Amino acid sequence: MSRKKIVAGNWKMNKNFQDAISLATELKNRTMPDNVSVVVCPPSVWVESVGRAIEGNAALHLGAQNCHHENAGAYTGEVSADMLKSAGASFVIIGHSERREYFKENSLQLIKKLDLLLAKGLTPIFCCGEPLRIREKGTHARFVEKQIKEVLFHLSSQDIQKVVIAYEPIWAIGTGLTASPEQAQEMHAAIRKVLQKKYSIEIANNISILYGGSCNASNAKILFSQPDVDGGLIGGASLKADDFHTIINSF
Ligand code: PGA
Repeated sequence: MSRKKIVAGNWKMNKNFQDAISLATELKNRTMPDNVSVVVCPPSVWVESVGRAIEGNAALHLGAQNCHHENAGAYTGEVSADMLKSAGASFVIIGHSERREYFKENSLQLIKKLDLLLAKGLTPIFCCGEPLRIREKGTHARFVEKQIKEVLFHLSSQDIQKVVIAYEPIWAIGTGLTASPEQAQEMHAAIRKVLQKKYSIEIANNISILYGGSCNASNAKILFSQPDVDGGLIGGASLKADDFHTIINSF
């Protein structure tokens, strides 16, 4: 089993320039475990400068929170995968529930984003996860399976292994309500099963599946100890170097 352990910090729309650089510098100066890839995803306007600030710490990778689904053109205010790559990013989050909800992102756009990122050699962190009403109905596994099938299943056996999946139950994002370790494990195993059925057990075992949603310095250890949880996508708790560093050291 060769899948990577990954902790990605999604700063969302937080941090002015000085604060972004000081957080990045603090992280750069920490000793990181050598078996974990750490991804820092600042707001796109700071991607390049945060990239420079973390240079020199080999565990740290640069990511972005989103990209446009077209390569270039008349899309005022948008940022392309190509721009992010030329600014030094190697990971891009796509399909975050906030993007799906507030910016009406749909699966067709996500397919385009995914294909663009893979064509450019960037690693997509594909987010999926159910809202509370679906969890309450008990159909969360089917809901997430559909999200995965719609966006990822056109990929070849080779390309699917270049994707990182983040399972983020929407009811747990920014709410302080974490999925229990059992709930996280159940969904991560279900996602891996979906991948196994379409591809193979070997391929499914190579794909990192991260948990996101109120993951913090106190609960990361128990979540990351679940067999199918390969790390986390961290929002609020990635904004403080101490908390984020504790999470990174929670395997
Ligand atoms: P949270 O956000 O850790 O603040 O819940 C996670 C995310 O949205 O990726």
